[in-house]
Amino acid sequence: PSMQRCSLNELITSFVHIFESQAFIQGVKVETDLQKDLPLITIDKDQIKQVLLNLCQNALQALERQGRILLVTRYHQAEKEVCLSVIDNGPGIPPENLDKLGTPFFTTKDKGTGLGLSISYTIVDSHRGRIEVDSQPGRGTCFSVYLPVDEQF
Ligand code: ADP
Ligand code: MG
Repeated sequence: PSMQRCSLNELITSFVHIFESQAFIQGVKVETDLQKDLPLITIDKDQIKQVLLNLCQNALQALERQGRILLVTRYHQAEKEVCLSVIDNGPGIPPENLDKLGTPFFTTKDKGTGLGLSISYTIVDSHRGRIEVDSQPGRGTCFSVYLPVDEQF
């Protein structure tokens, strides 16, 4: 992997530029709440873009018209990590499925591969980060990606 220091906010902004037109066709709004002065992180840009795409595609597929996807970044100074959350107001994930997320080939979709999350977990793991899920059936889902900030900077 080719690791480079980069701005997560910039990566998100350029991603949203492309993704929001795809969402718009489906009647879904994409919004961002990006923290100013977010520290740079050392990542494989292509891989983290892939994670962002997988999470946003899942959100979009879970949503119907009037849906909304919110992308949030935050710096957690004490933990020396940045957090990217992908939040949707879709149907949520049944509690009995939460443990299966990230298991290769687990899907609830007719034409799903069940690989998006599994690949995303592996990528984030290789960045020494983690993914957390918070989902409320009937209200929505939040996937949070935590990535470490290099201490020397
Ligand atoms: P796929 O999208 O091919 O089904 P994924 O690994 O991306 O495979 O996701 C696995 C499963 O996790 C999905 O089939 C779906 O049941 C559930 N899931 C993931 N993200 C969401 C979400 N934002 N809202 C509801 N369910 C989700
Ligand atoms: Mg998927």
